[in-house]
Amino acid sequence: MRKVDFPVADDGAHLDVGDVFDTCIEKARGKLRAKLIAVRPKIVQASAEYAHAAAGNQLHQIAVSGDVDGLTKNQLSDVYSERMVKGPGRLYYDRILVGSPTCPLCGVGGTAELDHHLPKKQYTLLTVAPGNLVPTCERCQGEKMTARPTNAAEETLHPYFDDFDSETWLKADVVTAAGAAFVFSADPPAAWGPTVAARLRRHLATFDLGSLYSLNAANHLAGIRQSLVNLHAAGGAEAVRLEMTARAVSWEANLKNTWEGAMHRAAAESQWFCGGGFAVK
Ligand SMILES: [Zn+2]
Repeated sequence: MRKVDFPVADDGAHLDVGDVFDTCIEKARGKLRAKLIAVRPKIVQASAEYAHAAAGNQLHQIAVSGDVDGLTKNQLSDVYSERMVKGPGRLYYDRILVGSPTCPLCGVGGTAELDHHLPKKQYTLLTVAPGNLVPTCERCQGEKMTARPTNAAEETLHPYFDDFDSETWLKADVVTAAGAAFVFSADPPAAWGPTVAARLRRHLATFDLGSLYSLNAANHLAGIRQSLVNLHAAGGAEAVRLEMTARAVSWEANLKNTWEGAMHRAAAESQWFCGGGFAVK
């Protein structure tokens, strides 16, 4: 839902998976350390292939890894859980996390943790790849399905590699029967094609964003309802329409696809809403 810049080092270059991995395994000793050093080239290679695939909507073609070169998938997963989250690699964890104060998956919550875009249990060579670590809010982390994508249309949006904010695609509709409720859906330009349309819908569904946005819209309307009553009393439906339009334009000037922008646009375009539907509880 929101594009985020790829995590960078102090010099502005993309965070290097080799640097992250080396720092994470600093305290490993003995045979485990030797095995981890031996697998490093595969970690670097997997990260490069990941970036290339993600840029081309081909992440579904990345092979799952599991145990690699005498390292169990738990040992590889622990490089993240024990050595990055809780160990010397924590500085990289924190650096990636601060890259986006707002959750890029929903655009609503504050980020609280990192999420493996491709799950670490299955993609054991990507557990500390910066491109696979995305800041998320607790809600999106909880909603996420662990099933991996099997085709391009099943890939949810990747905040580092996808940017679908050049045009408006998040749409709201006013549900008159329910008393000024707003329902949200993905309605991208036809030129974007069926795969992108499917991905946008899958993203909304995977993170249950329709429910989140409808709830936020209902609460927002409750808060501005009295001001709309006053506007309507002074200038009728046209005054309400102008106000909702102005708000939509302002939200869209910042980001084209927010629940706020979609809500106000839908309200402005609904004669029922502007004519007094906003007052229906
Ligand atoms: Zn979120």
